[in-house]
Amino acid sequence: MNCKYCDSEKVVKAGMKGNKQRYLCKDCCHTFIEGSDFPRMRTESHIISTSIDFYFEGLSIRKIQTQIEKLYGVHVSHTTVMRWVFKYSALCSKYVETLSPQVLGIYHIDETAIKCSGVQKWFWEMIDEQTRFLVAGHLSGSRTTEEALAVFEKSLKVAKRQPVSIYCDGLPAYVDAYNKLFRTMKKEGRPELIRRVGIRNVHNQNRIERVHSTLKDRLKPTRGLKGEETVRTLLEGWIVHYNFVRKHQTLKMTPAQASGLNVKNDWHNLVKDATKEEATKKDQLPPRQLIEVRV
Ligand SMILES: [Zn+2]
Repeated sequence: MNCKYCDSEKVVKAGMKGNKQRYLCKDCCHTFIEGSDFPRMRTESHIISTSIDFYFEGLSIRKIQTQIEKLYGVHVSHTTVMRWVFKYSALCSKYVETLSPQVLGIYHIDETAIKCSGVQKWFWEMIDEQTRFLVAGHLSGSRTTEEALAVFEKSLKVAKRQPVSIYCDGLPAYVDAYNKLFRTMKKEGRPELIRRVGIRNVHNQNRIERVHSTLKDRLKPTRGLKGEETVRTLLEGWIVHYNFVRKHQTLKMTPAQASGLNVKNDWHNLVKDATKEEATKKDQLPPRQLIEVRV
């Protein structure tokens, strides 16, 4: 048996928890019990990852329940599915931030109105033209300079590079944000801002719309969910799904793969990798002292 956290083989028995064998990893010092591949979960890992995949593919919770019952003969409750979606959206979103997608830096930024729990919000997205990698997604209550700036800054953090050019619409916030961030840079190397004021570029418009529509679809059933944080986490999970799991129709691969990232395109492997990353963070103290228990 390998460690559920870091996949190490240096695992020893460490007593029982109830009637289940407990194990201790001598590499990352975590303990875990036998059962699900995902630590601290009672349900088999593939049931969890398949449910999350179905969720972000747009299936209703009822349809997810039917499919899981058909595939695995197990009934999962509404709240359980949502708990999985939230837990692993947060975990994987944090993990993918550590990766460096090789994007070309020609970005298209756009904002669209979205209804969240009956309240109008703005969803911003910045997409790399060549790889279709979504370098920044952002949810806000208004369309101010600060919010546009937040999108720009997010893209710098994710892409770990300066953009080459940014295509945007006529929203003044884009110009203000651009000026705040890039105006003081030397002319060579400074990104260019291209405003498509009054121009309807059908091709680009369509590309962005498609991203919107799948998201809008997914946020619809969240009407019963309260709180901005909840929606934000769902959005993060949706971005992970868009960049890392779903094959782009034209590219025939995921935007992550198009960006040269060597990651498998499914939730199961993403969760495994994210768990490992979290368990083996270098500057993190071991969760407990390493005590070897021989049984
Ligand atoms: Zn371990």
